[in-house]
Amino acid sequence: MMIRSTCLLLAACSVFAAAPPTPASYLGHPVGADREVVDWDKVVGYFQLLTKSSDRIRVEELGKTADGRPFIAATIAEAATLKNLDRYRDIQQRLADPRRTDPSTAEELIGQGKTVVLITCSIHATEIASTHTSMEYAYKLLTEDSPHNRAILKDVILILVPSLNPDGVDIVARWYRKTLGTPYEGSNPPELYHKYVGHDNNRDWYIFSQPETRLTVSKLHNVWHPEITYDVHQMGANGARLFVPPWLDPTEPNIDAILMQEMNMMGTAMASDLTAAGKTGVAIHGVYDFWTPSRHFMAFHGGLRMLTESASARIATPITLTADQIAPNALGYNPRERSWNYLEPWLGGTWRLRDIIDYQLIAWDSCLYNASLHRTELLRNFYRVAQRQTARTDPGAFVISAVQRDPGATRKLIETLRFGQVEVGRGADGSAVISMHQPYSGWAKTLLEVQHYPNDLLYPGGPPKRPYDVTANTLPLLMGVDVKTVKDSVAASGQWQAPPPAAGPLLKAADTDSWMAVNRAWDEGRRVWRDPSSGDFSLAERGGWKEQKRPRIALYQAWTANMDEGWTRWLLEQFHFRYTTVHNADLQAGGLRQKFDSIVIPDQAANSIENGHRAGTMPPEYTGGLGTKGAEALKEFAGAGGTLIFLNGASEYAISRLGVQAKTVTPTRGGRGGDTDFTGGDRTAGSAEFYSPGSLLNVRIDTSSPLAYGVPADIAIWSEQSPAWDTQLPVVARYTPDHVLASGWLVGEKIIANRAALIDAPIGSGHAILFGMRPQYRAQSYLTFKLFFNALVYQ
Ligand SMILES: [Zn+2]
Repeated sequence: MMIRSTCLLLAACSVFAAAPPTPASYLGHPVGADREVVDWDKVVGYFQLLTKSSDRIRVEELGKTADGRPFIAATIAEAATLKNLDRYRDIQQRLADPRRTDPSTAEELIGQGKTVVLITCSIHATEIASTHTSMEYAYKLLTEDSPHNRAILKDVILILVPSLNPDGVDIVARWYRKTLGTPYEGSNPPELYHKYVGHDNNRDWYIFSQPETRLTVSKLHNVWHPEITYDVHQMGANGARLFVPPWLDPTEPNIDAILMQEMNMMGTAMASDLTAAGKTGVAIHGVYDFWTPSRHFMAFHGGLRMLTESASARIATPITLTADQIAPNALGYNPRERSWNYLEPWLGGTWRLRDIIDYQLIAWDSCLYNASLHRTELLRNFYRVAQRQTARTDPGAFVISAVQRDPGATRKLIETLRFGQVEVGRGADGSAVISMHQPYSGWAKTLLEVQHYPNDLLYPGGPPKRPYDVTANTLPLLMGVDVKTVKDSVAASGQWQAPPPAAGPLLKAADTDSWMAVNRAWDEGRRVWRDPSSGDFSLAERGGWKEQKRPRIALYQAWTANMDEGWTRWLLEQFHFRYTTVHNADLQAGGLRQKFDSIVIPDQAANSIENGHRAGTMPPEYTGGLGTKGAEALKEFAGAGGTLIFLNGASEYAISRLGVQAKTVTPTRGGRGGDTDFTGGDRTAGSAEFYSPGSLLNVRIDTSSPLAYGVPADIAIWSEQSPAWDTQLPVVARYTPDHVLASGWLVGEKIIANRAALIDAPIGSGHAILFGMRPQYRAQSYLTFKLFFNALVYQ
């Protein structure tokens, strides 16, 4: 739906009688005032109001968020540009594909086009400043008559997304107001600030699982191909005031060097303008590397990814830092000392929401002004990058055979590539052919090949340097799809078509689609049987097959806002499992076996599961964990035949609190737990002995176990500082003796070689299943989804 003014008098647009209201007059307080936060409907209302008073803005609702809020984008440019948006969109699309646009036509189009800049705000909902900045900056662009502003409006099409996570705007505002004036003012909410994935919503940009990601990619990136995407974030409070690229090493090898150079150029230009405007504490080339494509979709699609990370206040509550509260070191710079990439240290003082907005206003304006100044080069290089991608010769193609163990995962893999605009042809034998002679060949290559992350130590023999996020993203390994790399080009005709999903009554255990079909059958009140040898399902009775009962599943939700819980919940819903969310009190109440067959405890540190938030750090109803009563209730549940499922770090809880007999050989880790990432400027993580910061590792499966139905003997699992064990208990997955690393980065192979990665521990007449991995990793690990699903229905 296009929400826009009906400006029929095109000539002068004299219908725009009223001047746009300032955001301050609209909100009833200055933008970024202390202890004031905005609600999403107010933000949407303001942008709608702007369309009624200016012909330089359009606002469109792209769709709905996970919780059903309107997801909007504003387009801002000269009125004449807005009248011809179709034409500028066409120019972008033609420049994006050198196979349909020859170099001389491209030169003409470059002369006529505009730089398209996409600014996206507050994907992380506690980082509230940029949504405020979006209102104030839009007002400025629409009203200020300066040469600077005119240049931007003339040369640039700005697509402004006031929030990539509108649900989170309201979740955070509600929590902030609830705790205002209490000891908990400025704390983070006890729930995820995105319905399913919380902070991981900016790790979703190659699997595209959430509606906000899908809308942004399908309706903005894939349509407009912005030359620049500027993603506005906030970070911890005790280092720089603002980070801008250049990025740290390592940079993903498939990202074109031209784009890397342009990011260096734009970032230093922004840093230079901030410094000239008197802003101190501006860091470049620190903290943030450019490795994982989970955040960098645009950089594989011809566009720059600009990022600013501002120091945070406590939501809208000011903070004051003394000089000795400034961190003595951060990755890439020392916040206490002048260096080439941190020239004017910020050495303490009061820091408030309004300060963040002031820095952002300068950074945004600098980004857009440079987008105007460099319009020609940015457009020409956009075309050039597409030429270079299309000319790729090594490899020639990737081929996905028509015969696969898991047709459901194969279809999903190909759909995922296509969603990112990868063309998939049909080979003579029905295989899917991904030629490298296409504009987004680098994107396909990154997602299909093995990652070789550098052995990045702080100093020789020293501890590992923490990657910004994970180090592997090899979809064929994650999804269990056989993909061949072919040196030469491969003939293909037409588009690959997915075969229809298996329709039953026989359903293969190896096909992830089967799980959807089985859950649907249960929804319809049908009965399901399972072959005790292969684990295949049948919707009709068969001799020797056992009836498979629908499990009554409980999923534990801590008050620590655990992203792993959110991802698990999302996965269960996608595959139509029924489940009940349980909190501390529900588990402590006991009598669990009467209510449930399996209880899932997501990745969380044992200590955090037991104790939760400490008293005094959150309102009392959100403090505490399972405690002794919860542990007793879980033991009783398993003793009476229930299945306890512990994911990754939570497995340590089963060992230390429930008495499962296994010895952890890896250094104890925290478990991911809260709605945040590991960043905070720390330079190291893990130990010099062992480190697996999001890596694919080789294990051998005991295929005789019912947990392994449908899973081949040799697979790669997702390890994120995952525990490995010595144990006499039944082991379902064991690390290989050597060549443990399949993709990404691993320090300390010897520590985990031959050790257990999945334990099936009997407790009474039930089980505790310990996953030393994340089997449901970020909607991607289709191969190990099956280990997890088998555990859910274990009886
Ligand atoms: Zn962020």
